[in-house]
Amino acid sequence: MSAQLISGTALSQQLRAEITQRAAALTAGGHQPGLAVILVGEDPASQTYVKNKIKACEDTGIRSILEKYPADFAESALLQRIAALNADPAIHGILVQMPLPKQIDPNKVIEAIATSKDVDGYSVLSAGELLTGLPGFRPCTPYGCMKLIESTGVSLRGKHAVVIGRSNTVGKPMALLLLQANATVTICHSATPDIGHFTRDADVVVVAVGRRNTLTADMVKPGAIVIDVGMNRDDQGKLCGDVDFAKLREVAGFITPVPGGVGPMTITMLLMNTIESAERR
Ligand code: NAP
Repeated sequence: MSAQLISGTALSQQLRAEITQRAAALTAGGHQPGLAVILVGEDPASQTYVKNKIKACEDTGIRSILEKYPADFAESALLQRIAALNADPAIHGILVQMPLPKQIDPNKVIEAIATSKDVDGYSVLSAGELLTGLPGFRPCTPYGCMKLIESTGVSLRGKHAVVIGRSNTVGKPMALLLLQANATVTICHSATPDIGHFTRDADVVVVAVGRRNTLTADMVKPGAIVIDVGMNRDDQGKLCGDVDFAKLREVAGFITPVPGGVGPMTITMLLMNTIESAERR
C-alpha cells in the first residue's frame, strides 16, 4: 500500500486564492487588511522568513509594513513601536520575527501585542483562548496541520491522535486543536520511554521534534495519517522532516512530504489569521 500524499503546496494555493478574494472584499469596503512585520537584527534566516511573509502579503492583496531595526535596538523602543501599532486601526496583525537579540525579552514583546492583533497566536491570552475553546488566533503551524488533516476528509471524532513534541508553539497547541476536534489525544516527548507503544495505536500522528527518523515505519499503524512538522537536513544537506518518509509511505494512509507539506501552510495560516482579524473589525 502506498500512502496518499497530502500536498501543503496545493492546499496553500487553494487557501491563498480564498484569502485573495476575502482581502479584495475587505479592501472594496474601505478596510484593506494590514500586517505589520518587525525584524530586529540581521539574522539571515529571519531575513528570509520575513521576505517570504511580505511577498505572500503582496501576492494576496494584504497591505504589509516592514519595520527593520538594528541588532542593538532597545527593548523599550520596541515596546513603544508595538504600542503604536496596537493603536493603528489600519493594522490588523502584528508579527515580531523571532529570535530577538538577547537584550530583548521575547515574552515581554509577545505579551505587548494586543490579543486582537496577535496573529501568531503566541501570547498567554491567545493560548488561554485556545485552551478554553474561545475564538482567537491559533498558532499558524498547528492551525495549518489541522487544515492538512481536514483535507483528507477523515473525521477526527473518536480517533486516537498522537503528537510527538510539546513546544508552546507547535506540540501543545496541536494537541489542543486535535482535542477540540474530538480526537483522543496522547502527547509524547523526550521523556516518553516507548513512543512506538503509543503511535502504533494511533490513527493520526503529528511529529514536531526536529530530529530525523523520529518516526519509523514499524511505529505506525497501517492506514494512519502522518503529519511531519520537522525541518532537518539529511547527510546530503537536503531538507528532510522527522519521519522516515520513504518507508512510512508504504505503511501510512496519508502522509505530508518535506518539503511541500507543513512548511507552505505556516505562512498561509498567518495570512488567514490576518484576514480573520480584519473581518472581526
Ligand atoms: P522545540 O521547541 O525544540 O520542541 C521539540 C520538542 O520535541 C520538545 O517538546 C522535545 O521534548 C521533543 N523531543 C526532543 N527530542 C525528542 C525525542 N528524542 N523523542 C521525543 N520527543 C523529543 O521545536 P519546535 O519549535 O516545536 O519545532 C519542532 C520541529 O518542527 C523543528 O524541526 C522545527 O524546525 C519544525 N518546525 C517547522 C515549522 C514549519 O513551518 N514547517 C514550524 C515550526 C517548527 P521536551 O519538551 O521533553 O524537551
